[in-house]
Amino acid sequence: MQTWNDLQQVQPLASKIMMNSIKRNRLSHAYLVQGSRGTGKKSFARLIAMTLLCEARQGVNPCQTCNTCHRIMTGNHPDLHWIEPDGRTIRNEQIDLLRKEFAYTGLETTQKIYIVSSAETLTVNAANRILKFLEEPDVETTAILLTDNGRGIIPTIRSRCQVIDFQPLDQTAFRNRLINIESESITENNARLLSALTNNIDEAILYHQEETIYHVRDVVKQLVYELIVRYPERYLFVHQKWIPALKERKEQELGLDLLIIALKDVVYAQMGREDETFLFQSGDGLLERAIYEFTQKRLLQMLKDLLHARQKMNQNVHPTLVIEQLVLQF
Ligand SMILES: [Zn+2]
Repeated sequence: MQTWNDLQQVQPLASKIMMNSIKRNRLSHAYLVQGSRGTGKKSFARLIAMTLLCEARQGVNPCQTCNTCHRIMTGNHPDLHWIEPDGRTIRNEQIDLLRKEFAYTGLETTQKIYIVSSAETLTVNAANRILKFLEEPDVETTAILLTDNGRGIIPTIRSRCQVIDFQPLDQTAFRNRLINIESESITENNARLLSALTNNIDEAILYHQEETIYHVRDVVKQLVYELIVRYPERYLFVHQKWIPALKERKEQELGLDLLIIALKDVVYAQMGREDETFLFQSGDGLLERAIYEFTQKRLLQMLKDLLHARQKMNQNVHPTLVIEQLVLQF
């Protein structure tokens, strides 16, 4: 999603609001973007940054070819900062570091932009520092806070931001678009899995063409099988199958992501919403077994452990260590 017109296809309302503000030169200094995972919040934030900093904007849209656009697209622009939660919260130190970096190195333009992912994890202290940051008169700062969980945002932050609501994805329309690409022959089942990971058509096609995602799905299903049928062997399975099959860190991360999707599928299926599964087909024998085998309490605990494991992976803990610990916790 590199232009506001692209965004219009998935988030028509948000896109319209932004295009109007850009035309009138009335962009806000703080945005709170709330919407569920996979709705395109990060692309949206990047697009705002490109619009603000592009050297040769064409109407409302960034040119996508200038040096600045290119650096933003490759995550390499000194006036644009991303803050990701470090562990479970965004700490004071992260905000302080950012202020310092901006003070000393942000010399390319007079605009500074920072994007905060998982803004609901800001501690009250860190949130207060961000608010102060916004009030600094000598720097033109734009803050874009992103959250999957709007209710977790503290009121003082919310009241200072322009709130942009992202609509839930129209999953069926997205899947149909994928299925109807004649050159790719994507099955319904595979389209469902792709739609769990992205709402971007090009990214979905790339996943499909690489095929890694389908191999990873097989390994994840095998692990679910092991957990049900050969529980004491799960650690052995990790060493004999999981690690040899998922060699790259990227594949290991995808493995955890798909495992999260698989367990959520089981939770949904237990609630009788089998048509809403992503990784399992409705009526899949393994899904049926999982529904009976796992209690809801255990599934929720496993999901919690998984999210924690996924964070450790982000913090560069060795993937083998992460998956070993995880299956022992299960
Ligand atoms: Zn540009």
